[in-house]
Amino acid sequence: NRSDVNYFGAGPAPLPTVVLEKASQVLLNYREKGIGLCEISHRSPEANEILAEAKQALSTLLEIPDDYDILFLQSGGSGEFSATVYNLVAIWVEKKRVKIAAEVGDDQEEVLKRLRKVVDEELKLDYLVTGSWSLKASQEAARLIGAQHVNVATDARKANGGKFGVIPPEDQWSLTPRTSGGGAALAYFCDNETVDGVEFPAFPKSLEGDDAPLVCADMSSNFISRKVDVRKYAVIFGGAQKNIGNTGIAIVIIRKSLLPPHSTPASPDLLRQLNLSVGPIVLDYPTIAKNNSLYNTLPIFDVWVAGQVMNGLVNTYGTKRIGGQQEISDEKASLIYDTLDKYSDIYRVVPDKTVRSRMNICFRVHGGDADKEKAFLAGAEKQGLLGLKGHRSVGGIRASNYNAVSLEGVRKLVAYLEDFTKS
Ligand code: PMP
Repeated sequence: NRSDVNYFGAGPAPLPTVVLEKASQVLLNYREKGIGLCEISHRSPEANEILAEAKQALSTLLEIPDDYDILFLQSGGSGEFSATVYNLVAIWVEKKRVKIAAEVGDDQEEVLKRLRKVVDEELKLDYLVTGSWSLKASQEAARLIGAQHVNVATDARKANGGKFGVIPPEDQWSLTPRTSGGGAALAYFCDNETVDGVEFPAFPKSLEGDDAPLVCADMSSNFISRKVDVRKYAVIFGGAQKNIGNTGIAIVIIRKSLLPPHSTPASPDLLRQLNLSVGPIVLDYPTIAKNNSLYNTLPIFDVWVAGQVMNGLVNTYGTKRIGGQQEISDEKASLIYDTLDKYSDIYRVVPDKTVRSRMNICFRVHGGDADKEKAFLAGAEKQGLLGLKGHRSVGGIRASNYNAVSLEGVRKLVAYLEDFTKS
């Protein structure tokens, strides 16, 4: 029974029971239409209303300014690793082309020649590699446009004996210098590393300022869990399946100045001539934005679930907005970390104290002793505390503390952590 179980899986992750109960009804019969939500057109008035409501709820929660757009895509989080590269490189190239064309005039061959040189010498994408997901994103960028264009401005493993678990100090990062003509085409980081339990405590200072690069952040695993100053970002994205909804959609918050008519991406023809890859149309932000996320068939049921979850938070926290959820998330995380720290002879939190994730709490039991960790997990399962096994790449224990994990569930976990120390 759902009420006997507390699930701490890293994603897919628990959803509010009230939302799932309602979901089971709308799957069969949406608003007494006699047909379910997975069966109706994504272009119906009902679908449009669902889309509008989900956008409104996210805007309310994160206080998203009017000069930002919200997009829904079927890309998953990983698809956005590619989409950010395709879209922002195309904008960077077009800017350079316009500048060169202004200098050399109509001589297309000369423009192309100079542009090739600029791309070869200047195209850089900055990645802060602080865990396995930002690593994957940087690898995807290298796969798409060539490793020579990817600047890993920091690799946290180098500062931590080969393992993730820290965020190196900003003065040790080697970001692409900001020049009057540009700098990096984007700067990328993962706000919360799901596998490694590392979360940025705050927005990086060195990515701030009027001449800052276009900052892209992966918030897949800490979306709508704390306040975000959206204006600091060019693109925020996340898969829905942890804090927002079920698997199937990714949500993108994008600065409108990066979309037509304010920005024009380089044409596919030009990109091909520069040996830069052209992305699939379903990852093309201008196309998705122009079509209100309905360029192709959007899974409206997934959007409905996300909208219900977010509207639930809007109603619960009122004028506190996401700040209300942040208080609870922080409280739950503190309860767990305090207990782990209290029994530091038995438990060891993996990441450094300054960058501990409030969402994915990674720790070892008895120094990582395989039998002891197995016993820990077996004992937890007996009490209905499920999904605690760490990611297969790092082992150990991981308690994911997403929004739908209740304070009561966390208290049960804390009681078990206490009990286990006596066994
Ligand atoms: N980024 C982060 C931070 C993630 O945790 C995940 C998935 N666990 C992804 C990206 C990849 O998302 P998806 O599986 O939807 O492609």
